[in-house]
Amino acid sequence: TARAQPGNGWRRFDLSMSDEWLRRQQLAHDLRGAAEAGQLALHYQPYLTPDGRRVAGAEALLRWQHPERGMIPPADFIPLAEETGLIVDVGEWALATACAQAARWRAAGHGGFTVSVNVSLVQLENESFAARTAALLDAHRLPAEALELEVTESLALSHSATIDRNVAALRAQGIRLAIDDFGTGYASFSYLRRFPAEKLKIDRDFLLHVPDNAQAASLVRMIVAMGHALGAKVTGEGVENARQLAFLAEVGCDFAQGFFLSRPLDADAMDRFLDAPWAARAGDETLRQ
Ligand code: C2E
Ligand code: MG
Ligand code: MG
Ligand code: MG
Repeated sequence: TARAQPGNGWRRFDLSMSDEWLRRQQLAHDLRGAAEAGQLALHYQPYLTPDGRRVAGAEALLRWQHPERGMIPPADFIPLAEETGLIVDVGEWALATACAQAARWRAAGHGGFTVSVNVSLVQLENESFAARTAALLDAHRLPAEALELEVTESLALSHSATIDRNVAALRAQGIRLAIDDFGTGYASFSYLRRFPAEKLKIDRDFLLHVPDNAQAASLVRMIVAMGHALGAKVTGEGVENARQLAFLAEVGCDFAQGFFLSRPLDADAMDRFLDAPWAARAGDETLRQ
């Protein structure tokens, strides 16, 4: 390797490149064994009706507890997992774990509750994805409504027949799709026609400046109206304060999600959240601010 030739000054650039390459190789190697080693976990971030009274579901978010590097956030390993194809196994682990958890919550009496799982386009490129997802629902005796798949707008750029077939098969089975980070990507009207989603999740960038910024407020209003016109539900992401929440209620947004309502929780903490409605805990005072 370059490291073995320290005398070659002109190799310095190559050397740092290879360090970065080695680091990524090491991380990819570690990720390969992470699920089996019990280092992966799902946290769950609830989403509620904007009055805070009903928990409609929770989004499963991957966490990787690395033995030496500590907690690695998904932004630091999902792209690597996608490039190396490891996302297929990691994503399968996430789906299976989320389905098992959804079944436990249903058994505990939380019917009508949806678990949302983020799915990468790389997973949808796999011919058997829809069939394997249906098999997971069967194995856990879950109705299709118990699961929702979140896909980003980059789906719009794909011209893959495999992805189209998977999406059609998922829809035929009644598995719902949500378009994540809506508004930041490439969604066009023709895209919305090609992939009719059951839910749009307004990216938190749009919510950052509501209600004070009139333009941001208009955009959120418009996305909610457009989603409803298409027969979709709409979620506002990244709600960090009472005023954003009140605004979402005012414009008729269906669901709200964000740190103000709850941070992502481990499964036990999510159990407790389900047992104590948010509005009751926060007191109606907070909602009227
Ligand atoms: P995402 O699906 O858009 O998830 C929302 C992210 O925003 C989460 O970050 C969540 O913790 C964070 N968030 C939620 N509410 C707030 C808020 O009020 N304020 C702020 N500042 N942030 C908030 P996280 O868990 O780090 O996940 C980042 C991204 O990684 C996700 O974005 C998703 O694209 C991806 N990801 C996570 N888990 C999976 C997975 O199982 N599979 C795949 N393919 N991607 C995943
Ligand atoms: Mg998501
Ligand atoms: Mg999102
Ligand atoms: Mg996001």
